[in-house]
Amino acid sequence: MDLVDEIDRLKKEKNAVLLVHNYQRAEVQDVQDFLGDSLGLARKASETDADLIVFAGVDFMAEIAKILNPNKKVLITSKEACCPMAAMLSKEELLKAKEQHPSAKVILYVNSSAECKALADCCCTSANADKIVNAMDSDTILFGPDKNLVHYVQERSDKKIIPVPENGHCYVHNIIELPALEVAIERHPKATIIVHPECPADVQDRADYIASTSGMVKLVKELPGKEFIIGTEVGLIHRLQKENPEKKIFPAFENAICRQMKKTTLEDVYLTLKEERNEVQVPKDISEKAVKAINRMLELS
Ligand code: SF4
Repeated sequence: MDLVDEIDRLKKEKNAVLLVHNYQRAEVQDVQDFLGDSLGLARKASETDADLIVFAGVDFMAEIAKILNPNKKVLITSKEACCPMAAMLSKEELLKAKEQHPSAKVILYVNSSAECKALADCCCTSANADKIVNAMDSDTILFGPDKNLVHYVQERSDKKIIPVPENGHCYVHNIIELPALEVAIERHPKATIIVHPECPADVQDRADYIASTSGMVKLVKELPGKEFIIGTEVGLIHRLQKENPEKKIFPAFENAICRQMKKTTLEDVYLTLKEERNEVQVPKDISEKAVKAINRMLELS
């Protein structure tokens, strides 16, 4: 049995759409109906007329698809694919911060739980975080859970941005440290350096460009350079190299691998579609509040 053919057949039979994040395994990326970052995938989820949504990504992404499509069946290809950064912010900690800063607006990175999103004024992704912060009618912003994204936004805003929690981070991007980047630069001195805003502050400061994964896709395509050093989860290298065969793409740190993103195999995609397993559920009261923060982001970006 050819898994790729079977996946294709089941998608047609069930009128299903397969949304795949840029950090998934190469073979999973290659069977996608839409491949993108959190913002692009959230948009697709809000627009789709498919009867069944299958998400190859991590928990919070599939939750967003469900929140935007409460009456549709949403499946996640691996139940164990949970983002550790999203788990770093608890509802209790967010409520405490809100109590300490009652006049602040709350902006949460989409990499957060649905119950935290239900307490936010607006969500954001790395593609629109600065724009959303600057659009808020408050001089003080509670922002979580990524401290490195706080650094990125703070460099682009006069508002006071308070990280919640203080030390939230993505373990994958946080290990792309400056010494590793310097080694990559030494090996490829002519390469243009593009890093993700989840990378540490000094790595951001050393880069030529800071961009979300969709921004990286655009920059590599449009910039005249022939060599690029990319500071993000290494799954994106497959897409960049496939779309730009004439260019050379190097990872800033080849061990920047998200174990949760790699949990999904091609067989998981097939079995999820076939058995309609791993249905995503979000309690109605949480969903109805969280959808406001997600829709506000989609309107503002
Ligand atoms: S790459 Fe980082 S933010 Fe993305 S799912 Fe993995 S741990 Fe979470």
